[in-house]
Amino acid sequence: MNVYLKYSNDYFCRMEKMMVTKSVSHRIENLSESATIAMARKSRELKSKGIDVISLSLGEPDFNTPDFIKEAAFEGINKNYSKYMPVNGYDDLREAIVNKFKRDNKISYSINQIVVSTGAKQSIANVVLSTINPGDEVIIPAPYWVSYEQIVKMADGVPVVLETSIEDDFKITPSKLESAINNKTKMIIYSSPCNPSGSVYQKNELRALADVIVRFPQVLVLSDEIYEHINFTGSYFSMAAFDDIYDQVITVNGVSKAFAMTGWRLGYIGAPEWIANACTKIQGQFTSGASSISQRAALAAVSANPKVVSEMKAAFLERRDFMITKLKSIPGIKINQPQGAFYVFPDVSNFFGKFHGKVKINDADDLCMYLLEEARVALVTGNAFGSPSCIRISYAASMNELKEAMHRIAEALSKLY
Ligand code: PMP
Repeated sequence: MNVYLKYSNDYFCRMEKMMVTKSVSHRIENLSESATIAMARKSRELKSKGIDVISLSLGEPDFNTPDFIKEAAFEGINKNYSKYMPVNGYDDLREAIVNKFKRDNKISYSINQIVVSTGAKQSIANVVLSTINPGDEVIIPAPYWVSYEQIVKMADGVPVVLETSIEDDFKITPSKLESAINNKTKMIIYSSPCNPSGSVYQKNELRALADVIVRFPQVLVLSDEIYEHINFTGSYFSMAAFDDIYDQVITVNGVSKAFAMTGWRLGYIGAPEWIANACTKIQGQFTSGASSISQRAALAAVSANPKVVSEMKAAFLERRDFMITKLKSIPGIKINQPQGAFYVFPDVSNFFGKFHGKVKINDADDLCMYLLEEARVALVTGNAFGSPSCIRISYAASMNELKEAMHRIAEALSKLY
């Protein structure tokens, strides 16, 4: 494009405008957009055109933050918590997190082992960037939360994906884990309850995995426990509660899911002190710490008896049971019994190769697109989570929406032949 730039009061000089070189870093080129965020964007676009889309694609409780937590935030504002704070979090919040880990998880951390961050997502990025060198391998059992793989790639690490299937309840076995470990292995990352499968590792299952990991002291474990309180098994166990593996484990948690606080952006870790120090160093350059007001709110949340969210948990359980019953009644769907989080992760591979008119459904991506267009329900392809036979349906939506969505899904699937 030609433009005229004024060089002096006397004359105009015609210049060819230089084209800006638009070249993002290789780091960004290699990074995928989060599939869950992309699907949410697509369904918002359709909604803005007046199309009635039911979105079951995002991992977000449909409840509001409890009032006592909001009050704590107001108090924080009124008491002028408005200045820079310690990079790793206010002392009283970290003390409350130490107590939470003792109370709920039987893990003993000191305050110096706690780092508060801008969401569990940043906690995970801090840990990975603090410990992974280029070429280090990170074992990630599939299905996995979408960001693990991308964060590892951002650190120039190499994700090593271990497949599981609906038949083994989407859990890895000790022998499978052991066969993936070599001298380049630096870390294992998993979530329990799992996003997207809803699977929860029981104490004996974690013990069997720990028995393998303790034999490889160079291997760290990132245990993502963000869904800890949305767990229907009646018991919860944390990997770091085993004394013999404690020095190898980083426990990630936060307030987003348990207290319906996704927008407050607050997560935290309990970790060996050398890792906590490294995370603080990174955060000191990237963010200077999590928002002061969110920290005051989080102090109320983590100090409260977890029973305060039992109503929300009961609602999720009712919805899970509804979703499983409905999915079981659809011919061709394979479904297990997820024990936590707020997702179901059915295997839909029986529909691959089927047609709607001339359109062939080749894979889970095609099926999600078909369900968006035909049923106007937004879901996420299992491909995004490393499990291409499945789709993820979030049931963090009202019962009315779930009923309507399942009706539409069943009808759309019955049209495939
Ligand atoms: N881990 C898992 C397994 C998640 O599902 C999510 C959120 N979708 C996060 C971490 C990130 O949580 P936060 O909102 O606290 O960053």
